Amino acid sequence: MFKRSETRQVKVGNLIIGGENRVIIQSMTKSRTKDVLATVQEILELESIGVELVRCAVLDERDANAISEIVKFIHIPLVADIHFDYKLAIKSLENGASKIRINPGNISKREDIIKLVEEAQKKRVPIRIGINSGSLPEVNDTNLNKYVLAAKLHIDILESLNFRDIIVSLKASNIEETIEANIEFAKLYDYPLHLGLTEAGDLLSGTVKSTIGLSKLLELGLGNTIRVSLSSTSLNEVKVTKQILKSHNLLDNYVELISCPTCGRCEYNTFLIINEISDYIHHLKKNLKVAIMGCVVNGIGEGKNADIGIAFGKDSGLLFIKGEVIKKIDVRDAINILKEEINKF
Ligand code: SF4
Repeated sequence: MFKRSETRQVKVGNLIIGGENRVIIQSMTKSRTKDVLATVQEILELESIGVELVRCAVLDERDANAISEIVKFIHIPLVADIHFDYKLAIKSLENGASKIRINPGNISKREDIIKLVEEAQKKRVPIRIGINSGSLPEVNDTNLNKYVLAAKLHIDILESLNFRDIIVSLKASNIEETIEANIEFAKLYDYPLHLGLTEAGDLLSGTVKSTIGLSKLLELGLGNTIRVSLSSTSLNEVKVTKQILKSHNLLDNYVELISCPTCGRCEYNTFLIINEISDYIHHLKKNLKVAIMGCVVNGIGEGKNADIGIAFGKDSGLLFIKGEVIKKIDVRDAINILKEEINKF
């Protein structure tokens, strides 16, 4: 077991990552960064569902320059994601990035890294060393896990320059490889870890893989920032991330949805209501359990741990608060009534 509190603390904008601090929800935009309007819109939406740190891909100088505009409109620190060209990292720093993520697989020249570190030091901006299975350097050391070795080669350079504002991620598409790499890294270093799997898959397969892999690491006490990456929208990625954290009691102010799978007893299409309420509650910051159940026979009993719930019949439903039936409602009013009751808490 590891203790999250034993990692070094690293400041990213207004956030302190690592140490006693809770696991921070991170996301990455899917818009093109040079499209300032689309990127700002996406980040504001991500902020509204609880994202605290956002990463944007910087492919060229237009992307790097767009950062200076984007940061004027957003309220969370922005991480510039750089591949191949260290000069884009420096440009991103000049334009207001709060953290730089580099891939040692394609930015590895010592003289380039020195120039970047000098700028990062001046601006007091940390660097994430992002190790991915797709870009591991070709170095052999049978004593070290290959991901840890890739991180070490880079950490050695940064530490030789007396730079220790470092965050590390070690991501594979393979669950076991990701778990092992992170555990081995945490045995050697106290730098905060950003957790994630890479190329995890679509909404369904990626959610399953990420939940298995990231849960194991969280249970061990590892992870200071987290992102679930999926071939789906960034909003879906965050919803999955929040549910994983909540399941480990690592997220406060979260409205949890309890819903039944439905079966032959269900006489009303509850899925439409579940989808609408799910979208609604992800924007709220309060501790609450909401149940949407497919029948009155078992629904109230099965949903009794919820603060608010509706058990549906054919055309009507029973509204219950903390397991007690309050009133009968028309199904057409169900969404509005649920929202009203949620707002009262
Ligand atoms: S609550 Fe009712 S409809 Fe839902 S799964 Fe249970 S028995 Fe079936």
